[in-house]
Amino acid sequence: MLRIQGDCLSKEDKKLLKKATIYTMDYLLPRNQRGDSRLIITVSDPDEEQTKLKNKATCQCNIGPTGRKTLRIWLDKSIIRRRAKTHFNQFKITIQDLLHELIHAKQYLKGELVDGSGQYYKFCGKRYRLPDDDDLMGYYEQPHEIEAYGRERGLFKRFEEMLKEEGNA
Ligand SMILES: [Zn+2]
Repeated sequence: MLRIQGDCLSKEDKKLLKKATIYTMDYLLPRNQRGDSRLIITVSDPDEEQTKLKNKATCQCNIGPTGRKTLRIWLDKSIIRRRAKTHFNQFKITIQDLLHELIHAKQYLKGELVDGSGQYYKFCGKRYRLPDDDDLMGYYEQPHEIEAYGRERGLFKRFEEMLKEEGNA
C-alpha cells in the first residue's frame, strides 16, 4: 500500500512522486518481498523535533503487533522549488531526497536496518552506536547512510532517464 499526502501537493505533484516511488521501489525490492507493508509519504512543514534537528527528510519504521511494517517518509515542503521552469525541476531536490529515504525504507523492509532501544541500532546483523546529533562524520559514516548516499545519485539518474525517454523531463 502506498499513500502520498500533503496539502501543498497538487494531483500532478502526487502523480510525479508516486511514479518516482514505484519505479524506484520496484528496482530496490521486488513486490513479493514487501509483504503487506505500508508506505506513507508526507510532504509538509517540519514539526518541532524536525526543526530542532534541521531535518529535511526522514524515514521511520513501525512494526505492528502482527509484524506488519509501516514506513513513514517525511519530506520538507520547503525543498520544492515552485519557481523552477519545469515541473520536474520544481521537484528535483524533493525526488532526490525521496529516493534517499526509499533506500532506508528498503533497508527496513529487508530487515537490514533495525532500530534498537536507546542508543544502538543494527545494520546487517551488526550492532552500531547511534552518533551524537552534532557528530557530522559519525552521521555520514553510518553504514546505512553510506548505502543511501552512495545509491541515491544513480537511482535519480535512472528515474530522470526514464522520464526523458517519455518526454517528461
Ligand atoms: Zn539517510
